[in-house]
Amino acid sequence: MDNAARAAGRPAARLLAVSKTQPAEAVATLAAEGQLAFGENYVQEAAAKIARLQPAGLEWHLIGHLQSNKAEQAAQLFDWVQTVDRPKLIAALARHRPAERGPLNVLIQVNIDDEQSKHGCAPGRYCRAGRTDRRRAAAATARADGHSRPFPEREQRQAAFARMRRLFDDLALRRPSVDTLSMGMSGDYADAIAAGATMVRIGTALFGARH
Ligand SMILES: *Cc1c(COP(=O)(O)O)cnc(C)c1O
Repeated sequence: MDNAARAAGRPAARLLAVSKTQPAEAVATLAAEGQLAFGENYVQEAAAKIARLQPAGLEWHLIGHLQSNKAEQAAQLFDWVQTVDRPKLIAALARHRPAERGPLNVLIQVNIDDEQSKHGCAPGRYCRAGRTDRRRAAAATARADGHSRPFPEREQRQAAFARMRRLFDDLALRRPSVDTLSMGMSGDYADAIAAGATMVRIGTALFGARH
């Protein structure tokens, strides 16, 4: 993984361990080996795990869809929310973020294939969400690789990753705080890193099959 990134002249991508459905013990085992960043899809499931593992110095990312009525809890629990897809959500997260926890990192979820889909904003609108961000590090997370909308063909996935990277570069040029491109999962992280992902979200390749 590191070699591909280095060959492309980029720093290696950060590894986010996706721990959804995995017990707190499995997280603790990886944490003991030095993996400190974990991704969860559901606020409720994450709340229980975070409580059990405190204070372990772990960094928690919400990578599943966030409903507005869970924004308060998410702003308190997580260090990152990777699924911001509407301005209203950024405002709610900012309002509920406890001052003592410091800035919340947010990523804009982009629907790179630009088709009808439930979550993520269309590529043409991603900058609008970025402008409403009053906190640090608005950035982009591609969901072209998402579990709900996988591209069957490798060439299609590679093209989507490349489109996402161009959007990211375009946004980063205008907003220096944009520094994270989260894309790639167990099945396609090598292609995502080759395309310029700065963070990959890996579940099954680390933990084995989900329960
Ligand atoms: C589950 C999930 C992952 C990890 O998927 P694997 O194929 O197990 O690596 C990554 N991103 C999102 C948004 C997920 O829901």
